[in-house]
Amino acid sequence: MMKGDPKILTKKERDCLLAIYRDLESSGLPPRLTDLARAMGVRPPTALELVRRLMEKGVVERRRGLIALSESGRREALNILAVHRALEVFFAGCGMSADEACSLAGQIDYIVESRLPPGNLLEALGNPTQCPHGYPIPGGSARR
Ligand SMILES: [Zn+2]
Repeated sequence: MMKGDPKILTKKERDCLLAIYRDLESSGLPPRLTDLARAMGVRPPTALELVRRLMEKGVVERRRGLIALSESGRREALNILAVHRALEVFFAGCGMSADEACSLAGQIDYIVESRLPPGNLLEALGNPTQCPHGYPIPGGSARR
């Protein structure tokens, strides 16, 4: 996604996309709307509105009442996570604690990701494989 792309996510949409991704990864099942709302700390109508917007952007699909990621949605979530963890590495290197680095990275990861392939960022940082919390950094697929 390039600058000006109407598909660029907002911060809330980014949080929603990652909440869906995390739920899929941890339980292996697509979350129900009520689960998603609880995970995000919002009311179900708010979660539904976010899901609707993510569907319009082609990253989320609903299948029989369950919320699923499309192929591009899965790639988007992985890329945002890769950028998030790469930024954490950078901020930790600047002297921030892992939690401070995480909080700051979460404010900008989706913006950076929309303009910069994760692979470029990782390469510039010397190809780290773990974030400061010890989580693995997804490979960061080049998309163009
Ligand atoms: Zn983090």
